[in-house]
Amino acid sequence: MTGVVAGRPLLVAETFGPTLQGEGPSCGRQALFVRLSRCNLACPGCDTPYTWDWSRFDPRAEARPRTAAGLLEWALGHPTELVVVTGGEPLLQQDRLVPLVAGLAAAGRRVEVETNGTIAPSPVFAGSVAGFTVSPKLTSFAAPGDARRRIDPGALRALTATGRAVFKFVVSTVADLEEIADLQRRFDLAPVWVMAEGTTTERLLEVMRQIADEVVGRGWHLSVRLHVLLWGDTRGR
Ligand code: SF4
Repeated sequence: MTGVVAGRPLLVAETFGPTLQGEGPSCGRQALFVRLSRCNLACPGCDTPYTWDWSRFDPRAEARPRTAAGLLEWALGHPTELVVVTGGEPLLQQDRLVPLVAGLAAAGRRVEVETNGTIAPSPVFAGSVAGFTVSPKLTSFAAPGDARRRIDPGALRALTATGRAVFKFVVSTVADLEEIADLQRRFDLAPVWVMAEGTTTERLLEVMRQIADEVVGRGWHLSVRLHVLLWGDTRGR
């Protein structure tokens, strides 16, 4: 295992924490974050374009090779139970992530992985992950060029089959909710979380107030973006 770790570093955008998980079912929990570089989609409203948009960011400055062993040492140097692996799209590097997530799980840490739901997790990777937060991209959020890639039935089925996935959708209008309902019906997605798009308190509250009643009526959950409310659009919080 050590040779694999040493030979295949991960491309990492940043590590940060302890801080608070700001979104989804673990909102408000203390967490460490490992944000991986690279994505297989190119959403215009992406809040982490420095993980993939090399027309605007320099990959030599934004993506650092780091070993799984080094990341594990960093994470275990904190007492924080929850470690969130995010991106970008972290499953692009899932083989290289195995030593990290397995090491964290063996040390009793809870590993949650945030993914866009277009890549199926391997059994060996999924076996060490306590929860997947899957965020399929809606038409209003995705780039037109990603129309065929953004929804992958096989990957969604594989993530559902883990029994540890929640599905979190970023929405900007009430009209987005019908598309979520359609995806839920087609792929039997549950539980569904809905999160307002926005990087300011004003915008988040505006969208949440528009959608809250319908989210409740459909039996779904509503996520705030706690880090935006607390710290604005600050990177690494
Ligand atoms: S899938 Fe996520 S990380 Fe990738 S471009 Fe879209 S919003 Fe950004």
